[in-house]
Amino acid sequence: MNLMTSNWPIEARGYKMPVIDPQQIFDTRSLGFRITYKCNSKCEHCYCYTDKESANADELHIQELKELIPQAKALGMSGVGLSGGEPFLRRKTIEAVVEQAKNYGLNVNIATNGFWAKTAEEATEVMEKLKSLGFKPPLDSIAISAGQYHMPYINRVCTMNVIKAYKKVFNTCLPRLDFEYVIGNEKILVDYKTYLAENGVSEQDYKLVERTVFQTTGLAKITNNNIIQKRPVSVFKGLCPWTKDLIVSPNGDVYPCCGFNRYIDGIVIGNIHHQTLEEIKNAAQVNPVVIMLKRHSFAYLHSLLAEGFDLPKQADGLCDICEIIFSKMEHVNYLTSRYSHLYT
Ligand code: SF4
Ligand code: SF4
Repeated sequence: MNLMTSNWPIEARGYKMPVIDPQQIFDTRSLGFRITYKCNSKCEHCYCYTDKESANADELHIQELKELIPQAKALGMSGVGLSGGEPFLRRKTIEAVVEQAKNYGLNVNIATNGFWAKTAEEATEVMEKLKSLGFKPPLDSIAISAGQYHMPYINRVCTMNVIKAYKKVFNTCLPRLDFEYVIGNEKILVDYKTYLAENGVSEQDYKLVERTVFQTTGLAKITNNNIIQKRPVSVFKGLCPWTKDLIVSPNGDVYPCCGFNRYIDGIVIGNIHHQTLEEIKNAAQVNPVVIMLKRHSFAYLHSLLAEGFDLPKQADGLCDICEIIFSKMEHVNYLTSRYSHLYT
């Protein structure tokens, strides 16, 4: 069932609520590892780089990740995602996870800024290693992040080398090149494409995804409020469409979503250091916050919470308003203690 387009028979305070099958509250298909929040870039739009504690010790380690792979397989999951921060700062971890995932028949997707491909030889060596571990497109894939906020830190030769090496080793195009720019700054993309073309990379060698809409969530918003435009919270009448994965953060906390926001304690559904994946998934099925996210618009939840708290009245996107509502456990406790209809 598509929760975004399902029937909306229940009215409450002017907001519409969908009816869903409780058995399908959380039917996750993939597992994501944010190996580390450390990164060698400081992109202005990033949700985590401004955290002065990013250099903390929390990281996911090889053995614990290898033990999660068979659990994911047993739960019927089909894929594993690797990201960060910059996951290639921990290349040995990536290789160990790829090998384990392929041994268990799971697909692998890796998101990286490509810093490691400073030369064609280095890029090819990484691809050859992945190939030797069983990494095989199109089921397995690499996504490159680039654009105006990455370029001050990652030379464009690196991303070009990744594209070329991907084609050379796997004989196919790079399946995803995310390129961000602010509307009005289209020239930076034109220049980048020209640079690639002049160096023998055609537009068929990569699938470009242009990113012009930004959300500055978490601490990033403190220094980057100028990037995005905020809108009244009342316009956010949809549900979060992304609550469908189990994403493990560097400290072991598990989020129910891609979670481009690391500061929403209220949506944490478990921790791999204390629970099995099955326990976490089962807990998510009855987690009040997950159920709220699946059933109720952010505008509606904000309206209820605003009766008890002085909240920001504007947000730049779903993850931003999600943070406003769920970053504090006192907010979660307020909603769950007063409004049981939200999650029962
Ligand atoms: S957007 Fe990616 S590359 Fe840039 S600072 Fe954040 S994690 Fe690093
Ligand atoms: S809106 Fe909330 S639940 Fe949805 S992806 Fe963003 S942080 Fe996760």
